[in-house]
Amino acid sequence: MDTEKSQALSRLFHQQTQDFPLARDNYRALTQAVCKEIPLDGFCIRVQYNPARIISTNAKTDAASLRNRKCFLCPSGMPETQQGMAYGDRYHIYINPYPIFRQHFTVPSNEHLPQRIAHRFEDMLDIATDFPGHVVFYNGPASGASAPDHFHFQLVSRGEMPIEADAANERLRQVVRTGEDYTIATLRDYLREVFILESASKARLRVLFDALQRFVGITVPYEAEPQFNLFAWQAEGCLHICLFPRRRWRPRQFFEEGEGQIMFSPGCADMAGLIIAPRQRDFEHYDAALLADLFQQVSITPEEREQIVHLIQQF
Ligand SMILES: [Zn+2]
Repeated sequence: MDTEKSQALSRLFHQQTQDFPLARDNYRALTQAVCKEIPLDGFCIRVQYNPARIISTNAKTDAASLRNRKCFLCPSGMPETQQGMAYGDRYHIYINPYPIFRQHFTVPSNEHLPQRIAHRFEDMLDIATDFPGHVVFYNGPASGASAPDHFHFQLVSRGEMPIEADAANERLRQVVRTGEDYTIATLRDYLREVFILESASKARLRVLFDALQRFVGITVPYEAEPQFNLFAWQAEGCLHICLFPRRRWRPRQFFEEGEGQIMFSPGCADMAGLIIAPRQRDFEHYDAALLADLFQQVSITPEEREQIVHLIQQF
């Protein structure tokens, strides 16, 4: 069932993949992208070889680099042919000209304000219900956002990230707490840690998200805000939220030189089981053992997960 907003989004996509040459070329290239699947215990990780993504994988996000570049999420920093559509009073939606997904949009705030989820979680839920064929996600400022200086969500087509099906897989799920109108779960032996919140009530999800965010912050030290990657989508009359708590953005191998270097700079897609490899060499290297090592460095530990579970069960 297409909502009016979904139809407008679809029109934007078709118009921009005709009129915006950079987007047209990169979406065409994406249809040829080489992928492989790495089977693990009860789930899979997908790897996509995508050379155009070298720009965001390698993004420099220190204060000086941000000051010295034009913000690509402010209209003044976009090519003239990149056109967006308004979403409410506070956001615009634009096609992402460096796609990972069949349909890939950015949803920047109208103002150039830092990447912080506070007071915006409700907006994320509204986007998820307004675009039911899509997943909305948020990279924390120290967890994969390549523009931590300009607030943005991303909005992508459903069915491309393994987490969407894994979150419902009874063999992986461990329910942590339930109430009349909600469920909180984790996934067992999943290489990285994730918390799942499910409810039809946005007010309930707001309370649960605030608590979970606080518990992550208590457990893992942080600077701007507790570190995580966050997802929301609507399915079967219910909203599904996935939160991957993080310890750090990039693993040791990212900073190595020569043979040992791996361009793994994980944001939401990677944590959700869709690894983006901008270099062919890395694409070929990925296997179960390497993924376990990389995820273990950027995710929280199982002990930290248990601390958070304990806090959830007490509150
Ligand atoms: Zn900006």
